[in-house]
Amino acid sequence: MERTIDEFLANVREKNLFRSLTQVIPLGGGRIRIDEKEYTNFSSNDYLGLSGHPDIIKAVQNVAGPVFASSSSRLMTGTSLHMKLEKAVAIFKQKESALVFNSGYQANVGIISALFGKGDVVFSDKLNHASIVDGIRLSGAKLFRFRHNDTEHLEGLLNKERKNFRNALLVTETVFSMDGDIAPIPEMVGLKDEFDCLFMVDEAHATGIFGDHGSGVVELAGRSADVDIVMGTFSKALGGFGAYAAFSHKIRNFLINTCRSFIYSTALPASVIAADLESLCIIKNEPHRRKTLLSNAAYFRKSLQGKGFEVSGESQIIPIVVGENAEALALSEFLRDKGYWVTPVRPPTVPKGSARIRISLSYDHTKEILDNFLNVAGAVSPSVMGREHIGT
Ligand SMILES: *Cc1c(COP(=O)(O)O)cnc(C)c1O
Repeated sequence: MERTIDEFLANVREKNLFRSLTQVIPLGGGRIRIDEKEYTNFSSNDYLGLSGHPDIIKAVQNVAGPVFASSSSRLMTGTSLHMKLEKAVAIFKQKESALVFNSGYQANVGIISALFGKGDVVFSDKLNHASIVDGIRLSGAKLFRFRHNDTEHLEGLLNKERKNFRNALLVTETVFSMDGDIAPIPEMVGLKDEFDCLFMVDEAHATGIFGDHGSGVVELAGRSADVDIVMGTFSKALGGFGAYAAFSHKIRNFLINTCRSFIYSTALPASVIAADLESLCIIKNEPHRRKTLLSNAAYFRKSLQGKGFEVSGESQIIPIVVGENAEALALSEFLRDKGYWVTPVRPPTVPKGSARIRISLSYDHTKEILDNFLNVAGAVSPSVMGREHIGT
């Protein structure tokens, strides 16, 4: 085993794929401190700046009773404020009911593997999150991956393969975490109906940001009734922790009885649930946060493109694709040196040859912060010196 581990580590180091952890001190306001140096944090999913919102901090303090932990699973004695949160989520998502999960990873792995099994089939976007992929693997269902956001390719696969299986799942993220682009929900609803699939979406990066009420891309598309399972997390734009899925009463009951990541895991502490509840109130009462974020993102993307960067997406997630791993590392090091914390994203998180730096904008990143960044990045932009010279 020792040898296997050594060989693996040498191999990832050689390919510039070695990952390591960094000690970080959060400072609030979209800033962090690392090794005595302060940075603007462009790598956080705290898109609305809610993780430091005074109302959330207060909500956590208010719930502090004689105990902190929940100390058992939901089915034992672990359900306290959770059902109140589930009612609020169901209303927010315009579904009959909802269930809270300990994390988005656990939600996806548990839901998919509880509902589907051998003899079933899953049609999944090629770029779907690892937790969706792991849920499918665990389920034992047959997996077909369609090209990213490509409904023509999806329709071809459905035509050819759907009839050979019992139950079918169509699953996609709504805002894609590494590309920042958005799935064509209305077209997918058409295909789900035509080919009799259960339709599940992951709104991890859309919740709190898209739609009039900030519920997500499904709300924006006006399709809440047509999506069978809408999952998302409290840990990103909502500034809290944990995850949810919204669906029919029937699916909720089924999962409470079958979903292993729900049944066999200790419930989230009440203080976390209180934070999540408060966060839903803030989403309702402070719509200016999501509006400002999205207009700043559009401005930032356009400005980067103007400087010759290859930028894609249509959300608060802004990838700058540079290609090779070493280039992504060099660009992120250059920016860190200038006080901007951006993480390089490399395979296997993204396809080979599309290494990038991924900028996550937050409501805390003011126009002034963005303009300063644009000036700094402009000095190494492809239009100034050609990509291959980044970092030299
Ligand atoms: C972050 C993320 C998850 C996992 O959520 P956690 O609560 O962090 O475990 C699931 N799906 C997508 C698309 C995500 O980005």
